[in-house]
Amino acid sequence: MKTMANAQATGHVMRCVHCGKVQETADRMFHCTQCSELLEVVYPERADAPREFGLRLREIWEERRGSPLPENSSGVWRFRELLPRVERQHIVTMSEGNTPLIPLKKAARALRLPHLLVKHQGMNPTGSFKDTGISVAISIAKAEGFSWVCCASTGNTSASVAAYAACAEIKSFVLLPAGQVSAGKLAQALEYGAHVLQLRTDFDGCLKVLHDVVRKFPAYLLNSLNPYRLEGQKTVAFEVMEQMNWTLPDHVIVPGGNLANGSALGKGFMELRELGLITSLPKISIIQAAGANPLVRTMRENGGTQLVRVNAETRATAIRIGNPASWRKAVSVLNNTGGMCEEVSENEIAQAKAELGSEGIGCEPASAATLAGLKKLAGAGFVRPSETVILVLTGHMLKDVDYMKQAPGQSLIGPMEADGDSVIRTLEQIYAQH
Ligand SMILES: *Cc1c(COP(=O)(O)O)cnc(C)c1O
Ligand SMILES: [Zn+2]
Repeated sequence: MKTMANAQATGHVMRCVHCGKVQETADRMFHCTQCSELLEVVYPERADAPREFGLRLREIWEERRGSPLPENSSGVWRFRELLPRVERQHIVTMSEGNTPLIPLKKAARALRLPHLLVKHQGMNPTGSFKDTGISVAISIAKAEGFSWVCCASTGNTSASVAAYAACAEIKSFVLLPAGQVSAGKLAQALEYGAHVLQLRTDFDGCLKVLHDVVRKFPAYLLNSLNPYRLEGQKTVAFEVMEQMNWTLPDHVIVPGGNLANGSALGKGFMELRELGLITSLPKISIIQAAGANPLVRTMRENGGTQLVRVNAETRATAIRIGNPASWRKAVSVLNNTGGMCEEVSENEIAQAKAELGSEGIGCEPASAATLAGLKKLAGAGFVRPSETVILVLTGHMLKDVDYMKQAPGQSLIGPMEADGDSVIRTLEQIYAQH
């Protein structure tokens, strides 16, 4: 079995998020050898990193913008001083990251929150934030010489794994819950040439099966148990701070499924604070669908000490997860940043998605949970009108167009006769309503 090179060469070690044991190598399931909990990547050389180093990094990152080199134009690898060291020829990148930060208008007025923005991670190469994490993790797989990679997925991870594996010329297989993945995501995985195995179970079941499979087959696991995924995903915090001109937002709100994304976001901000580039942390809040709310229940029922598993059910399929792997990491982020964990109903998600759409911003249902959650947090007074709020939109609207068939507020007319008079009559009626 392949293991990591030593910490000196790679600049990092792995530390258990539960018992704290530090290890230089990990097995293919990325479990702590002592207590089998998840690992996180830490950088011992940076322990006494001074503020001067931080300020120098800001300049270096700035200079790289606009550079044509792939490792500089990537919104992930541009920040490589804060990533595991990977040799240039092993970096697998498709210019991921570099996503827009867009101010909301209607929602800002309606909620009386003038400083409300969305960070649209759906603008990544395969249409979700997964690309930022997969870019790093698959680069490690390449450096370690793997010829196969794999994942279990609700859809977006499989699309990303398939694309990045193709880019890296590595073979891939993905396990999907049969009948539960949107046509768009499935089409992506197939188009990019992954071997797609549909299993008669849900996501949690697929992940369990994958555990058995990787013990027998030499394939590199790209689920978010893999701590390198989070290293790529944390760079969204760096991008946001650059785009905010280093003014700290008060709140950042993300949807929560397997809970890696919220964890990565928190890690990114915490590393910036360690480097003195920011002096405090935004409150990071995590929103779940009411039908897939294990973190909400875990916080409510035992204060985050013991995971409460649920049978997940929601039309926001990207967060349809009942047994989230990164729950401990997410609990730390909530505790360290003072964020909240909230749940929203299917109707609230659909409504929020339609509202975003009505200002020209499309996203996946899971992403819209952030706006639905914000409404609750603002209603409860946790988010105040003077505060700056960033919603992380995790996936592209075109990922799941079937969802829209039942959406509120749409105006689809016809089929009707193809003559000017009928169209004009119809338009007269429409104009009269406005
Ligand atoms: C994966 C995904 C999520 C959930 O992220 P986790 O890291 O699993 O919490 C949310 N939205 C979209 C669009 C996703 O693809
Ligand atoms: Zn441990």
